[in-house]
Parts: sequence; structure tokens; C-alpha cells
Amino acid sequence: MFVTQNVYQLSGRRGARPWGANTFLLLDKSVTVVDTGLGGKAASILNEVSRLGYKTSDVAYIILTHHHTDHVGSLAELKKATGAKIMAHTADAPYIDGSLPQPGPARPKWLAMMLSPFGRMWASTPAEVDKLLNDGDELPMLGGVKILHTPGHTPGSICLFIPQEKLVIVSDLLSNRSQPGLPSRIFTADMAQEINSIKKLAGLDFDIMAFGHGRPVLREAHEAVTRLAEKLESKREV
Ligand SMILES: [Zn+2]
Ligand SMILES: [Zn+2]
Repeated sequence: MFVTQNVYQLSGRRGARPWGANTFLLLDKSVTVVDTGLGGKAASILNEVSRLGYKTSDVAYIILTHHHTDHVGSLAELKKATGAKIMAHTADAPYIDGSLPQPGPARPKWLAMMLSPFGRMWASTPAEVDKLLNDGDELPMLGGVKILHTPGHTPGSICLFIPQEKLVIVSDLLSNRSQPGLPSRIFTADMAQEINSIKKLAGLDFDIMAFGHGRPVLREAHEAVTRLAEKLESKREV
């Protein structure tokens, strides 16, 4: 589905086999892929690229919102097929290029410890990160994509703010079940940081919000984030 005129979402939930997280295509002179789903999805992503009128060689960049396997699973295959430049935040890059093992569930502690020997189960094929991203960076596609560092879910989680489209891609900073809320506690590394990051997000000016999982919010998304940030703040004060 089209989230905005120039941003296309490949739903994380289609077909019989699990896809993983949503993949986004930023459609400009070239194509930027944001997140890559689980492993084995490169061909399906490139099918959509061609259906939208672009060639495989038009895929110039791949941006990862964070290091979780359901977002970076097809990264290595997609890099091989396209030669695109890979970008991720400095703090998550070591988990993507394989210098650090991808951690499993963050809590409960006993589960994290029990599962730690089985890290390969959720490890993805490592891929070299070509460009490290940091808070405040601006990339040239779609009139400017601003990088907001929003740690918590992982240390190097980022949101992509695209003012021209009035859109922010928040990935797993927020979930969207019936309304925007906190992501899974099990897979979120630092909840206190996470809440600060949601407050930081509320400082941006956007209408539309797209998530790592589930459907986008197509209007008044900023109001929803402000309400959530206030609710989390009042809970914290109790
Ligand atoms: Zn996810
Ligand atoms: Zn995640």
C-alpha cells in the first residue's frame, strides 16, 4: 500500500510464510529500501520494486531502523542483488555487520539467559554497513530524510522523518495494535530510554506515522504521540 504519494509499504503480514517487519520503499529518482523483513525476502522486495516501475539497479540505498532480525533478515541478499549502500545507526551497526552477536529477548532475565546459547536461531547473515548514521543527519532523498536517534528498543534505533511527506517512520519505537503504544517489553532493551525517545518524537511535526509492524496511522498521528508521551510521563511520576 502507498502510505504517502512517494512512500510504499510492503506489509509484514501477507502470504502463508512469515515476512517479518514491514519494508518501506522511498520512491525518488532512485529507490531507498527501509528494512528488509526476515531472510529469503529479497526477490519479493525486488518484485515490488519492478511492479512500481523501477529497475533492480535503481535500488541505491538500504536503511535499517535497528538491528533486529525481522528487519535485517534479507539485508545480505538484497545487498548482493542491488549493490545498494547500507546505512544504519552507529550503535546498532556492530550487530548488523556481525562484530557483536545479535541479542535475543531482553527480558525476563531467566529467559534471556536460557536462550543465550541459541543465538544463531535469530542471527541473520551479517552485512557490512557502508555509512554510519547519527542523530540529526539528513539524507537527500524525497527532499530530505532526517534521522532521529531514538534509543530504547535497541541502542541504535532510529526514526526517519520526511517533512515533504509529513511522515515519520517510527519502526519499533512504537507498536500499533488498536492505537500507538509501547513496543514488546520482551524485545525492548531499555524501557526508560524508550520513553524518553517517545517524548523526543513528540517534538517533530508530522501527520502520518508508519510502523515496523501493522498498519500506518494516516492522520493526526502527532496528536496520538503527544497523548501517549503525556500518559507515560504521568505514570512515571506516580
Ligand atoms: Zn520488529
Ligand atoms: Zn525490533
